[in-house]
Amino acid sequence: MPTVLVTGGAGFLGSHLCDRLIERGDDVICLDNFFTGNKENIRHLLGHERFELVRHDIVHPFYLEVDRIFNLACPASPEAYQYNPIKTIKTSTVGMVNVMGLAKRCGARVLHASTSEVYGDPQVHPQTEDYWGHVNPIGPRSCYDEGKRIAESLLMNYHEAHGMEVRIIRIFNTYGPRMDPNDGRVISNFITQALRNEDITVYGEGTQTRSFCYCSDLIEGMLRLMDNDEHTGPVNIGNPVENTMLELAEAVIAAVGSKSKVTHMPLPKDDPQRRCPDITRAKKWLGWEPQVALKDGLQNTIDWYRKLIEQG
Ligand code: NAD
Ligand code: UDP
Ligand code: UDP
Repeated sequence: MPTVLVTGGAGFLGSHLCDRLIERGDDVICLDNFFTGNKENIRHLLGHERFELVRHDIVHPFYLEVDRIFNLACPASPEAYQYNPIKTIKTSTVGMVNVMGLAKRCGARVLHASTSEVYGDPQVHPQTEDYWGHVNPIGPRSCYDEGKRIAESLLMNYHEAHGMEVRIIRIFNTYGPRMDPNDGRVISNFITQALRNEDITVYGEGTQTRSFCYCSDLIEGMLRLMDNDEHTGPVNIGNPVENTMLELAEAVIAAVGSKSKVTHMPLPKDDPQRRCPDITRAKKWLGWEPQVALKDGLQNTIDWYRKLIEQG
């Protein structure tokens, strides 16, 4: 069985990926510095004979023997990645170089978790992979957006220079159980607010859009690209059903059965106005498209948050 490294494996998506890899029989090394990750996400895997946990920061070199690497290490919520923007840049640049150095030495295939943020505040809609994006290089989101763009460049250059096997997925907003309730993302904010009957904080008019993909769909797309022997990417993985933040607020209030009311707060600087993936490539190359409707995914996520809040 292959030995698979998951950096950022104690985070929201990383922990779901570790679950799937263990289920299918792989040996898994989960590496995380616990900046935004949480041991609770992987506690059920501790002690499993094919699971190992390493506390480490990818900004510093590290030496392991692995066959495949999923590189997910990087804070993902705007609040978390703007907390220490220089550190965020180092993770996507210096950290990425270390991941590539390790992969080169081991001859390992690397799949990198890139993002729809490489398209910035897009002027093309929906976004296809050949769109080059519209990113403010000095704005508050640039630590994340430009870091991820450099990471993609590093992958392609290591691929060209050393013939390494690389895979790039561009993840669009993904949600589900294990999202940190305090990470400031829209799904975690709206659900926790609705469960507590507090005001739902819609930033700006709430007419900006996002397209929300459920975590199990996302992990399936990620595995299909990693296991694909033909394509490098980039491939958009996301749900092409687009919603305004006002629509999302109403859907969450209804699904929770909450007494919450919508309140408006200032729109953060450079907040993208519209975002929606074109998934033609994912369908064609991977036979992938999302299976879980927002209504069902929200219900699973609400159930999970409800338990978390009840446990205190
Ligand atoms: P997350 O914050 O839950 O997970 C990130 C994990 O990486 C955390 O466990 C964190 O502790 C760890 N980490 C951060 N910096 C590190 C470092 N320097 N060294 C080692 N570990 C480090 O976020 P997530 O939503 O699970 O996102 C996972 C990946 O997917 C990220 O790379 C993110 O950019 C990407 N992504 C996620 C989304 C989404 O909607 N969830 C969208 C686009 C891209
Ligand atoms: N590296 C690492 N683990 C390894 C191999 C390399 O962390 O198993 C790091 C090391 O710090 C190196 C970086 O990855 O500087 C890039 O490696 P590469 O082989 O591309 O470059 P070089 O070693 O020539 O700097
Ligand atoms: N947002 C909101 N209320 C919140 C948190 C976020 O209206 O409490 C908006 C935010 O301004 C953005 C969208 O929801 O337009 C998605 O924000 P998130 O931080 O989840 O991710 P992004 O896609 O911006 O990285």
